[in-house]
Amino acid sequence: TAKDHGGNEVVTFTSEMRVREEVRVTVEMSLLSAIRDGTLAIHYQPVVDLRTASATGVEALLRWHHPTLGPVSPELFVGVAEATNLAGELGRWVLDGACRQLAAWRRDRPDVVGADFTMAVNISPVQLIAVDFVDAVAEVLTRHGLDGRDLVLEVTEHAVVGDLDAASATLRGLRRLGVCVAIDDFGTGYSSLAQLKALPVTILKIDRTFVQDLGRTAEDLSIVRSIVGLAQSFGLDLIAEGVETDLAARTLLEMGCTTAQGYLFSRPLPADQLLAWAAAPATPAVPSPR
Ligand code: C2E
Ligand code: MG
Ligand code: MG
Ligand code: MG
Repeated sequence: TAKDHGGNEVVTFTSEMRVREEVRVTVEMSLLSAIRDGTLAIHYQPVVDLRTASATGVEALLRWHHPTLGPVSPELFVGVAEATNLAGELGRWVLDGACRQLAAWRRDRPDVVGADFTMAVNISPVQLIAVDFVDAVAEVLTRHGLDGRDLVLEVTEHAVVGDLDAASATLRGLRRLGVCVAIDDFGTGYSSLAQLKALPVTILKIDRTFVQDLGRTAEDLSIVRSIVGLAQSFGLDLIAEGVETDLAARTLLEMGCTTAQGYLFSRPLPADQLLAWAAAPATPAVPSPR
């Protein structure tokens, strides 16, 4: 019955909350040591030009294999880091590691990772409003011999709108360095058109909830079409996230969105596997799974 069903859901919900709380405490205690003991890793997902099926860059995504908890979702532990003052430390670690990796790929395999190949790194709201963030980014770039335009920093609408003045100041500083700024998960937040117009961003990343089933529902189609229109009128680049099907890839191309990420092309991979993926010959204009 409905009542039984409701009861079960409450139980599940409560025990889920208990697990989450346990995880939160464990994560809080071990995140710092994870940074040091190597159980934290960065994986890389290709960002693909749909017309050529080759990578134009990658997005760095944190992975944590906890010794007892197993793999912990980045959404969970990044959230914990933000709530416990560890976000700065974690953020510096990812930015440094991702930039070091891009420099190493360029040095070792310039045939695969050329001068236009970009590295995208997610940054948390805490980093975005830190007064020394722009200087820290400049320092990391210099240390690894990289240029501002080699780097894309991804922020969520939520992060930007939370403290609009501080965020805008940081974003302007990043743009002065030549760093590209992407609004991540676009379409799920609450930023207004006026805010979008005022923000010095260069890329919109269409949230994967609109992309996963693209081509199968009329709603997603019109949402994506209007985001494509927005990007065109604001002069912004577009990246679709969560492309899982051939149909979605083809539909995006038809609508004028030429850049995408998703399991159709590749999951996030460890650095060596990403390089092998990018080195394998692409199948031009036919976005099919590899
Ligand atoms: P995000 O930045 O929006 O990253 C995209 C997420 O979608 C990743 O999940 C990626 O693995 C997943 N994804 C990619 N293609 C597909 C697809 O075709 N289908 C589906 N269903 N999913 C796909 P992941 O790696 O679990 O990361 C989740 C979130 O955690 C990220 O969302 C980002 O908000 C956060 N995150 C990850 N790494 C970092 C980091 O270094 N710093 C910060 N601040 N946040 C991070
Ligand atoms: Mg992202
Ligand atoms: Mg996203
Ligand atoms: Mg996200």
